[in-house]
Amino acid sequence: MTGRVPPRPRADALAVAGLTPLSSCDWPGRLVATVFLQGCPWRCTYCHNAAILDPRTPGAVPWQDVRDLLARRHGLLDGVVFSGGEPTRQAALVAAAAEVRAAGFGVGLHTSGAYPARLPALLPLLDWVGFDVKAPARLYRAITRVGGPTTSADATFASLRLVLGSGVDVEVRTTVDPTVLAADDVAELSELLAGLGVRRHVLQEARPDGTTDEYRRALTRAALQEAGSVVR
Ligand code: SF4
Repeated sequence: MTGRVPPRPRADALAVAGLTPLSSCDWPGRLVATVFLQGCPWRCTYCHNAAILDPRTPGAVPWQDVRDLLARRHGLLDGVVFSGGEPTRQAALVAAAAEVRAAGFGVGLHTSGAYPARLPALLPLLDWVGFDVKAPARLYRAITRVGGPTTSADATFASLRLVLGSGVDVEVRTTVDPTVLAADDVAELSELLAGLGVRRHVLQEARPDGTTDEYRRALTRAALQEAGSVVR
């Protein structure tokens, strides 16, 4: 006896935390609308999206608002970027990406690769991925702060291999957390990524805005230590 495959959730099931109608920086070189999806399984040191991490929080924007926006912006927008949170957490993302593409827009994705099993269905619907790689595997948990020593790293590198193998245009980004990563760790990561076939690896500065007081203090200590000061 064969079991029935459950139907894939419709785009209307997406929990959308926010919608930016026009952005010129979320997909380099494109004018896009950015859809922020609720929920993320990780709790990164430098995350400034704390309000949209809890997967139990319902969406604040109906998917119909995105549909209506796209209908009004034909010819004015190049595409839609799905961001988060971690957008691949939600199974309805596949239906939403298909709908955006069918409406004649490009589809971009910001992801940290937490859900590799979601990618085979999603990748054929994508035109661009901004892929977040946080650290060499041995330092991953110090940033994501969940799971076992390599749980989040294993997911990320499995996802990265799928993205690279798909041929979809990808930019890999690393937010350099100076409370975890030394210059040698960043060099090690860049070398590792180049070995995997990554051609564009962009380093970003960890910013204090929107983070916890504890992390802001840690950033200050790291900056002072970098400058050669002693903090007591
Ligand atoms: S993966 Fe992104 S959204 Fe999730 S906790 Fe880390 S920085 Fe925040």
